[in-house]
Amino acid sequence: MAILKVARMGHPVLRARARAIDPGAISSSRVQQLIDDMFETMHEYQGVGLAAPQVHESVRVFVAGFAPEEDEGDEPSRAQGVPKMALINPEITPLSQETVEDWEGCLSIPDIRGRVPRARQILVRAYDRRGRPIEMKATGFTARVIQHETDHLDGVLFFDRMRSFETLTFLDEFGRYWTGTDVGAVKAE
Ligand SMILES: [Zn+2]
Repeated sequence: MAILKVARMGHPVLRARARAIDPGAISSSRVQQLIDDMFETMHEYQGVGLAAPQVHESVRVFVAGFAPEEDEGDEPSRAQGVPKMALINPEITPLSQETVEDWEGCLSIPDIRGRVPRARQILVRAYDRRGRPIEMKATGFTARVIQHETDHLDGVLFFDRMRSFETLTFLDEFGRYWTGTDVGAVKAE
């Protein structure tokens, strides 16, 4: 396995629409290696999700996962964690009009946080890393992470989804002025 270089905002790969992966190629060593390397890269940088364009591969796959935190304070989204997943060619359908706003970060936009509205509940259709079609419902923080990562596959960054930039903050200032104000997705994706 290998730790891959993460593309930062400004690199054109982050603004391109990534190519679908042929389901028959999911079991190939190339795709399996990419998924393994993406998990290792995500863990190295303590992210909660990572999309292939963030490691300069313009294909439609992302990984995510985050163990529940025991000392979660009063923040339920962090207590729940995010199940480990590698999703290929994901398609999202919002299950209601309801949106929730919470903090997001991004490994491609280091040390910045901002509040982003996302659908509260979604249905995701995708292939898993064994090439099996799957369908899952997700809510809360997990739904947020899946939406953030799927956006990466369409060249969309979380800034694009913000209603205003008033909550954009550097990480130091986030810790000084914003913690305790509904702090949720403080890890980068
Ligand atoms: Zn991101």
